[in-house]
Amino acid sequence: MKKVCYICGTEFKEFGNNPYPIKDKDSGRCCDWCNTHLVVPLRQKIAENTRETEEK
Ligand SMILES: [Zn+2]
Repeated sequence: MKKVCYICGTEFKEFGNNPYPIKDKDSGRCCDWCNTHLVVPLRQKIAENTRETEEK
C-alpha cells in the first residue's frame, strides 16, 4: 500500500510518523524527512516556549 506524506505529499515506504503539531495527528502520517526537519524542530520550539512561559 502506498503511503503519501501528509505534509510534503511525497510517497514513502517507511512506517511514517505522527505529523503533529504541523498537522492534526488523526489526519495522516508524514515521511521521515518531514519528521526530522519539520515536526521535531517545531516540537522543540513549542517545548522551549512552554518552558519560558512557565519561568515568568
Ligand atoms: Zn514529507
